[in-house]
Amino acid sequence: MKAPAFRYHAPRSLGEALELAATLPGARLLAGGQSLLPMLTFRLLAPEHLIDLARVPGLAGIEERDGEVRIGAMTRQREIEFSPVVAQRLPLLAEAIRWVGRRQTRNRGTLGGSLCHLDPAAEQPTVAMAMDARLEIARATGTRTVPMRAFAQDLMTPALEDGEILTAVHFTPWPREHGWGFQEYARRHGDYAIVAVAALLLREPAADAGRGRIVRASVTVGGVASTPQRVAEAEACLIGSTGDATALEAAAEACARVPAMGDAQVPAWYRNRIARTLAARALAQAAERIGALA
Ligand code: FAD
Repeated sequence: MKAPAFRYHAPRSLGEALELAATLPGARLLAGGQSLLPMLTFRLLAPEHLIDLARVPGLAGIEERDGEVRIGAMTRQREIEFSPVVAQRLPLLAEAIRWVGRRQTRNRGTLGGSLCHLDPAAEQPTVAMAMDARLEIARATGTRTVPMRAFAQDLMTPALEDGEILTAVHFTPWPREHGWGFQEYARRHGDYAIVAVAALLLREPAADAGRGRIVRASVTVGGVASTPQRVAEAEACLIGSTGDATALEAAAEACARVPAMGDAQVPAWYRNRIARTLAARALAQAAERIGALA
């Protein structure tokens, strides 16, 4: 099918883009087009106006400043994939981005587009949830910052009001000695995940030759519920433990209890079972990286 007719706008400044977004009825913002344009082609959406963000300066780029990494909403996934800053400071994102689509889609797709599209199985929202990212949102009257937990309201329903544009995503890197793990199950590499799990662990230095305790944990499952879910029960199993097999096992079991969506292809019980298996693998990866299993 062809996309329905729409008026195309190519603003040259954020102010102009905000003005258009605030005044044009039924307008949609266009970033990389890798989700939006297929939705138009399948007639799932029929916006009267498309506002292309590609020529708006200041919306792309990766910079480390004041202990955080700021990634512009229009930063292409490919740029994230090859960024030395992301590789060093956000290794979980560096690992997960390689699971996103294919090279061709990563060339066009953006971080902001994925977060605003908010597919329940998308890797970038799962990582943003795991890392408690903060989203910088602009409107004609100013800007606001929303934590990812509040931004991901429901199935493909971001906390964006009419006229608002996501401008950047702020990540606070974990200490360099942290461990991370990312696991995904998809029909083919490059397909959307059926289930994905992101895990982060931080261990205090061991007081003696033994193993230090885990002082911080983050476990997130994507593709199970309508939005990525932090699994507080799993994190509680890990904090205070030495990251031994019993703690990892209990945490993985907790991931099997996240209330799951089900459909004809993938029933809920199967998503839960995959989540448990992937959580065990992701936590083992993270534990390995902090040397807990040494
Ligand atoms: P668009 O498609 O341009 O926009 C997406 C939505 O976000 C639209 O509603 C748009 O209005 C809104 N939007 C965009 N930018 C902003 C902004 N700054 N502020 C407010 N609203 C905004 N994704 C995965 O996560 N994992 C995969 O495995 C995967 N596989 C794919 C395979 C194929 C073949 C294709 C075509 C896509 C795949 N994708 C996958 C989707 C891809 O990652 C998209 O890039 C992403 O979902 C949307 O990013 P985009 O920049 O293309 O946004």
